[in-house]
Parts: sequence; structure tokens; C-alpha cells
Amino acid sequence: MNIARDSVVSIHYTLKGDDGDVIDSSASREPLAYLHGHGNLVVGLERELEGKSVGDKLSVKVSPAEGYGEYEDQLVQKISRRSLRGISNIRLGMQLHTQTPQGTRVVTVTHIAGDMVTIDGNHPLAGKALSFEVEITDVRQATEEELSHGHVHGAGGHHH
Ligand SMILES: [Zn+2]
Repeated sequence: MNIARDSVVSIHYTLKGDDGDVIDSSASREPLAYLHGHGNLVVGLERELEGKSVGDKLSVKVSPAEGYGEYEDQLVQKISRRSLRGISNIRLGMQLHTQTPQGTRVVTVTHIAGDMVTIDGNHPLAGKALSFEVEITDVRQATEEELSHGHVHGAGGHHH
């Protein structure tokens, strides 16, 4: 069958950045299974998979806007260490969950100077052009339960 909305698709993939470095790969794992048409993949990749079938191999270049978003300077903030009260051992690269008017946001600690901590709310891959090598290993119809949860169950998906 061909990939369409509500397909459960299994892929092996390798993701590289602008510089050709491998950012992530499923090569040493089981394939990634995702529910197609529900925004579970970056939009630029999901669109290219539409209509493809098992055995197809694709090379897909994804712009930041269709990947993890443009890098937004206003998502970078300097705050005092005191406002992170309750979080011990603040260190570089640490990811924190903060409350904003738009809901919970994951931020990364990118700089620490004395009492000031810089946090960055951009996705770690924001602003990066991405390059995916993808091989489709399975396509099936989603179950009712998977559709109601919005994600895949079983191999390569959620186990709960
Ligand atoms: Zn579920």
C-alpha cells in the first residue's frame, strides 16, 4: 500500500546536518514507526513520504522552516539563577521545562556566568538545513486505538 493519512509507516533513516555530520540514525536500532499525516515527523519530510511504498528509498533535503523551525533570537533569555530555585546542579546543556503563557516549553541551558543563566527555547535543530536518507520498511493501516492516541503502538512505537 501507498503511504497516506493514517498509515503506520516504518522507516530506517539517517539525518545529517549542513556540514554532513550524522545527527541521528536508526541504523543500529529497530526502524522508526510513525503515524502518517499527524505531524509526527517534520513537515518537509512527511510531505515527501506521501504516496511512497515499502522498499522506496529517498533523499530529502529539508529547510529550517519545514524542519525544526527558524532560529528565533527572542527565545533566548538571560535569567538569574535564583529564578531557577528548586533546580540543583544547573549545568551547560541541561534541559529544563518552563511554564510560559503558551504552555510548557523545553529550554536548554546554553551559558552560565556567575548568577546569570542563559536559556534557549529553540529546538536544538532549529535553524539547521537537514538532509534525510530514508528507506521505507513497512506500511500498514493504523488501528482505531492508534488513531485515538495519535501515535503508533508496538514495534518502533509506544509501549504502554
Ligand atoms: Zn498510545
